[in-house]
Amino acid sequence: MMRFERVAVIGVGLIGGSFALALKAAKACGEVVGIGRSAANLNLAKDRGIIDSIAGGIGDADLVLVASPVAQFPKILAAIAPQLKASAIVTDAGSTKRDVVAAARAALGARIAQFVPAHPIAGAEKSGAAAASADLFKGKRVVLAPLQENPAASVAAVEAAWLACGARVSRMSAEEHDAVFAAVSHLPHLLAYALVHEFAGRGDSAQLFGYAAGGFRDFTRIASSHPEMWRDICVANRDPLLAELDRYADKLRALRPLLERGDGAALEKLFTEARAARERWLNGEFE
Ligand code: NAD
Repeated sequence: MMRFERVAVIGVGLIGGSFALALKAAKACGEVVGIGRSAANLNLAKDRGIIDSIAGGIGDADLVLVASPVAQFPKILAAIAPQLKASAIVTDAGSTKRDVVAAARAALGARIAQFVPAHPIAGAEKSGAAAASADLFKGKRVVLAPLQENPAASVAAVEAAWLACGARVSRMSAEEHDAVFAAVSHLPHLLAYALVHEFAGRGDSAQLFGYAAGGFRDFTRIASSHPEMWRDICVANRDPLLAELDRYADKLRALRPLLERGDGAALEKLFTEARAARERWLNGEFE
């Protein structure tokens, strides 16, 4: 099994902390250093055994994971570029990939071959080192978006790290990644935030929330996600997200006349088809 002697995690939150814990549990790493923005969070990460020490830089790390919100990447990558040893591999957990690749190209220049972009498709609406868990990635997918400059051995090493965390690894281009996740992740988050915000702004919001039950809770669970993280994702991936928002608006516009004329048969057909598609998804047909 691949083993990384020195790992640096930049942004020891839910994702970075869980990656460190999972590598440690699999005995796939030696020392883990944590680099971050909040001293309290880093101290907690050290107390929980997620990281072995708190550092100001990456030192002689063999593997560096950047796991901060994506708008921080240009600054972080520029800071680590001069510190990187030639054999080091840098990867990331960012939820968007085209902006991350552009930031890496700008910051790393000739060293871009050392950067292997990745996105674990696992998470929660919780954040920080307190929420990190060694099991977060078990059975979950990780998308690698390798660059043409990446040596095959570096991509294989990043793949091995995620396999050690218990994940299933697949590959796609940064463009394909951003289009797919605009649809299945970024749009639902935007809708959930928008619905809660709309109700919160009404004069009768106390009554609405007072009677809101399971359906509202399920639909809006992800509106409890970290606002900074989702701000960055929405801004970074706004073009594919706008395209998905338009398609969704078109769908609602097509649904409206069915409702206006009380066309129960058409509504039932749509609901039946949607439920069947969801059941096929829940049954793992698309895995
Ligand atoms: P988090 O808030 O739990 O952790 C982010 C950490 O980064 C925090 O500890 C924060 O202090 C630190 N940080 C912020 N700016 C920094 C900087 N300039 N330098 C160093 N550290 C900095 O968030 P998370 O859920 O772990 O998300 C981290 C990354 O993973 C994001 O890019 C996010 O898009 C991505 N991601 C999140 C999920 C999810 O569901 N939470 C899933 C997949 C990918």
